[in-house]
Amino acid sequence: MVAGNNVFKDALILEILERYRTIWSIGHAQALLGWDMETYMPPEGVAERAIASQHLSMLNQRLLLEPGFVELVEKAKQREGLTDPERGVVRVLDREITRLKKLPPKLVGEIAKTRVEAQDAWKRAREKDDYQSFKPYLDKVFTLAREVAERLGYEDEPYDALLDYYEEGFRTRDAQAMFDGIIPTLKKTLDKLMTEEDGLYPKTHPLESKEYAVGEAEEANKAVLDLLAFPWKRGRLDVSAHPFTTSMGIRDVRITTRYEGFDIKRTLYATIHEYGHALYELQVDESLMATPIDGGVSLGIHESQSRFWENIVGRSRPMAGALAEIVNKKVPSLGGVDMEEFYRYANTVKPSLIRVEADEVTYNFHILIRFRLERMLLNREISVDDLPELWNNMMEEYLGIRPKTYREGVLQDIHWSGGLIGYFPTYTIGNVVSAQILEAMQQTLGDPGSLTAQGKTREVATWLREKIHRHGSTYSPQELLERSLGKAMDTEPYKRYITRKYLMQ
Ligand code: MG
Repeated sequence: MVAGNNVFKDALILEILERYRTIWSIGHAQALLGWDMETYMPPEGVAERAIASQHLSMLNQRLLLEPGFVELVEKAKQREGLTDPERGVVRVLDREITRLKKLPPKLVGEIAKTRVEAQDAWKRAREKDDYQSFKPYLDKVFTLAREVAERLGYEDEPYDALLDYYEEGFRTRDAQAMFDGIIPTLKKTLDKLMTEEDGLYPKTHPLESKEYAVGEAEEANKAVLDLLAFPWKRGRLDVSAHPFTTSMGIRDVRITTRYEGFDIKRTLYATIHEYGHALYELQVDESLMATPIDGGVSLGIHESQSRFWENIVGRSRPMAGALAEIVNKKVPSLGGVDMEEFYRYANTVKPSLIRVEADEVTYNFHILIRFRLERMLLNREISVDDLPELWNNMMEEYLGIRPKTYREGVLQDIHWSGGLIGYFPTYTIGNVVSAQILEAMQQTLGDPGSLTAQGKTREVATWLREKIHRHGSTYSPQELLERSLGKAMDTEPYKRYITRKYLMQ
């Protein structure tokens, strides 16, 4: 029997959910294995972990495609009078089954194998700054991605098929329109800030090179999460090479951060970013527990939550003040920071080579470059031989700087080696939607930065829970935005946000 609740009543849906429990349990285990691999697994455990995770993935596909199960879902598609969550269950399962049916197990296995090999090759290539050694793997990754796109089918171009996997219903032309919408404002903003001397937003700040004691920063991160009302009985904070969030379910959501020993904003904002992802998963309604719709609906909506907390709340003036206070209390090794200085430090703007270190004004240019290159590669307009040169040209075109190494250019991201093609635009979706949320929230609740800094985080969190989180994946991303914010994705609020913050001060 599925958890005692009354959102699932239909006998057919209840039967589906009952059978789904095994599939859900595999996902639960996979999530824990994945989290462990990035945090506590001894390095040599990787060989056996790879076997286990490959076979669990295959088991997952087999169970989802079992004729009896597929038949139930097919029947449910015809069912009338279902509740919204019941329809959500059918939508999510149908999407997954349709996708897996079109991809032969041999191809799925080939992709999994290539991912492990390409990621390993990427790590070594990045260390030696050697693009040539990675090139054949990247070529293979894009060849497989093209095959996946052809098998899945698409409207206008292969990129559609891949993007839809990460952002349901979002097409290449939507992504293009999104970039066309925001890029002129970002260009104008960047040009103005770069010609300004002694403006509010400096290009660099002395705190960026200042060292801190890691043990103290750990205490600061805990204090930040306390201010954000992080439920420690349902979550953890650990350390990993690249910060991430893993959800085992609604009551067990874990985040990580990293400590570099200097430039303390990096670890603080990484923690706040991951908190945003975690809060989404933690606030899904418990009636959806252990069902196909018990998690965030898409990468873009997920990123809207992390960016909302990291940038809109975290980099606001009131929160910069609150963070400065925490730093002064918990990190004496920094020797005291001034609130206004901390705001300037948190919001430095400067074209830089590395995406993950980019500020609000330059970040989306990094995404646009990757989007353009991925599309051209998939459409065979360019080959992997052309990639580094084109990458560097685009960096120069948009940001006026040129990488001198592959490491600072085409080899910097893990995504392509992991086969994640079509993923990058979801980061910009997140930025755009985070500003829509800000405007909607300001109309009914007030300013989230001030509320959070005053210790009223729960008011902000409750608003997000009601509008977005509690639904899990009940609605598709666009449906959710229309229902909750009254409008599908719209770039105007983001343009207003950037203009107000950076051009009108
Ligand atoms: Mg994120």
